[in-house]
Amino acid sequence: MDTNKARKHDVIVIGSGAAGLSAALVLARARVNVLVIDSGEPRNSPAAHMHGFVSRDGMPPQEFLESGRREVRSYGANFESSTVTAIDRRYEGGFDVTLADATVHTARALLIATGLKDQLPETPGLRPLWGSLVNHCPYCHGHEVSDQAIAVIGGLAREMSLKQAALLRRYSDRVDFISNGIQLTSIERHRLEAFGVRIIDGAVSRISAEAEVSIQIELTDQRTLSYDAGFIAPVTQPSDQLLRSLGCEVDSATGLIAADPAGQTSQPGVWAAGNVVTPSAQVITAAGAGSVSAIAINGWLLQKDLDVAAAKTRTNTNLRDGARTKPKNKPAGPPSVHVRAVITWIAIFPLVTLGFFAIAPFAAEWPPVLRAFVLSIVVVPVAVYLVVPQLMKIHKALTSKRNQLLGKV
Ligand SMILES: Cc1cc2nc3c(=O)[nH]c(=O)nc-3n(C[C@H](O)[C@H](O)[C@H](O)COP(=O)(O)OP(=O)(O)OC[C@H]3O[C@@H](n4cnc5c(N)ncnc54)[C@H](O)[C@@H]3O)c2cc1C
Repeated sequence: MDTNKARKHDVIVIGSGAAGLSAALVLARARVNVLVIDSGEPRNSPAAHMHGFVSRDGMPPQEFLESGRREVRSYGANFESSTVTAIDRRYEGGFDVTLADATVHTARALLIATGLKDQLPETPGLRPLWGSLVNHCPYCHGHEVSDQAIAVIGGLAREMSLKQAALLRRYSDRVDFISNGIQLTSIERHRLEAFGVRIIDGAVSRISAEAEVSIQIELTDQRTLSYDAGFIAPVTQPSDQLLRSLGCEVDSATGLIAADPAGQTSQPGVWAAGNVVTPSAQVITAAGAGSVSAIAINGWLLQKDLDVAAAKTRTNTNLRDGARTKPKNKPAGPPSVHVRAVITWIAIFPLVTLGFFAIAPFAAEWPPVLRAFVLSIVVVPVAVYLVVPQLMKIHKALTSKRNQLLGKV
């Protein structure tokens, strides 16, 4: 992985949870050169067991991921343990992916499967119990606490908290909803109570584990309640900074990065799958989304390869036939020497003119050679160090935009 060559890939998958791994497996089996980069914080890592994935029900999440990585490696994909800190589009197409240690890998296409973060209230004692005695998903951990005493603690996500209380009532007839700051309307209170949920108005001051099998919930009014299990609804915060930095469009209705059913974002060459774009995705649906994206990415790369092969053949045919026609779309690339010359001229010419007028009042008597000398001492560094770099940036942005419009990434 040290040579420059080893840093060029067809696809870089960022995130190796269920979505990223599943995509990497499909791509590696399709003989695509894949690099998977992961920072090692899968969302369900606090949980001892994973449920609801047919054929893997009850498997520890770590074991699931390790076996997935073994499978992906066996088809030739590479892994790197690191955090991706930045992604930039390249002039010549594709992307530069920068890691925390400043290593840069390049890829023709990206799958971003960076998951999400669960935001919990700052209640003392809550975080250490997250994923063991306190959970959020009845589908993942409800069955395991069937017929037990369950506390649903009002969380940061109001609607989800009420839904949890009602849903968990299906698993047990001993479900308490501790309001913890959530104001229930009379209708909501009536519906939950009618369904058999006991409502406890109070704020939680501390949660602790009792012999690692039950929880004690202390309320600010000094009451202490005991339960076999707790549930709380976090606010989910997609880890979509990389997608946003690439300029991917956001769905104004959901606030999430917009992606089509195959995970393609508004940016050509950039796909997203799993919790980063679908916070409700379970492990099995995140894996399914990764697989769908991988097939779409492979199809996209294939079209590019077909285009290049056809263009080469056309060029050869043109040469053979003595044709002099130029290809319509010149390949994208860094600015040519002519473009650089024009940019430098654009920078220098107005500055010289401005400078000339600026010094005119007190340099009228100066010999022309001295005037030219003073002007060039000031103008050249300003143009070269300040103006030209800005113009180059504008040129790069316009070229990227043109490439996007032409699908040339
Ligand atoms: C406590 C808990 C228990 C759960 N139990 C279940 C269950 O039993 N069954 C079930 O179906 N679902 C369960 N879930 C939901 C499950 O965790 C998600 O459905 C699943 O993790 C989504 O997979 P993903 O690939 O989208 O994201 P993740 O699995 O979260 O993977 C994202 C990966 O991207 C990496 N990453 C993020 N940013 C970067 C970056 N900049 N550079 C490099 N890498 C990066 C992270 O380190 C992480 O490894 C549970 C969730 C929680 C919180």
